[in-house]
Amino acid sequence: MEKLEQLYKGKAKKMYATDDPDVLWVEYMNQATAGNGAKKAQIEGKGELNNRITSLVFELLKARGVDSHFIKRISATEQLVRKMTMFPLEIIMRNTAAGSFAARYGVKEGTELANPILEFCLKSDALNDPFINDDAMLALRLADKEQLAEISRQARAVNAALQDIFSKIDVQLVDFKIEEGTTGDGRILLADEITPDTCRLWDTRDHSGTVEHLDKDLFRRDLGNIIPAYEEIHNRLLQLATDEGLETIE
Ligand code: ADP
Ligand code: UDP
Repeated sequence: MEKLEQLYKGKAKKMYATDDPDVLWVEYMNQATAGNGAKKAQIEGKGELNNRITSLVFELLKARGVDSHFIKRISATEQLVRKMTMFPLEIIMRNTAAGSFAARYGVKEGTELANPILEFCLKSDALNDPFINDDAMLALRLADKEQLAEISRQARAVNAALQDIFSKIDVQLVDFKIEEGTTGDGRILLADEITPDTCRLWDTRDHSGTVEHLDKDLFRRDLGNIIPAYEEIHNRLLQLATDEGLETIE
């Protein structure tokens, strides 16, 4: 596979064309951002950890019947994925109240929710990713009714599979964001990344009543260095993948 021109540079990744029009070459960067880019830092090792973590998560999801754009990891910081036409949506699933949800409804962070909540935001840095509902997505033709139903079905399936994965490594999956797109032949698939940048992950090992964050809230809220936390997530996922007999290149 040949790496061709850079197509896009985002806040966390660079996307390159390849000699196969259906395949993208993704490079994970060390940049960390929060508050829609208002806070920014270079954190040595973050790109490698997120590339390794999301590769393991996509493999663990596949073993649970959840397909994604992931093809394979090709180096410490790079992977190949299927090229998709992305829906301009941030698809958020919540199992526990936290972050903007806890603030919006005035509930204490950590409050258990009676059922998982699916939310959509319009993916727009200029507009600060505003909340959007089904009628608005349909009216703006961001997706049609069947596509929305499929995206919602997949988001709930991803949540169920991720809850299984993270509970097995003693981590509470509080909430997360995914993105979806369509392949050249019209199939809707999970894309982008699933990492501690895009999930809230709370340690359930040895915590004495206080929340032990293993995710980007450490950076967002100036709670500490993200690297040991991301390493912990990586190590536990690698152990799980090994225990499950998944082929992982190290
Ligand atoms: P952002 O654009 O939010 O700054 P990134 O730095 O992570 O985020 O950039 C990755 C970009 O690539 C995102 O805009 C994402 O929607 C897009 N993307 C992710 N997976 C695919 C894919 N398989 N095909 C095409 N685009 C993708
Ligand atoms: N999230 C994300 N990218 C975004 C916004 C949110 O990955 O642009 C993730 C975030 O890590 C969390 C979940 O989506 O796991 C819900 O985030 P929330 O709406 O509470 O936003 P925040 O409190 O981060 O502003």
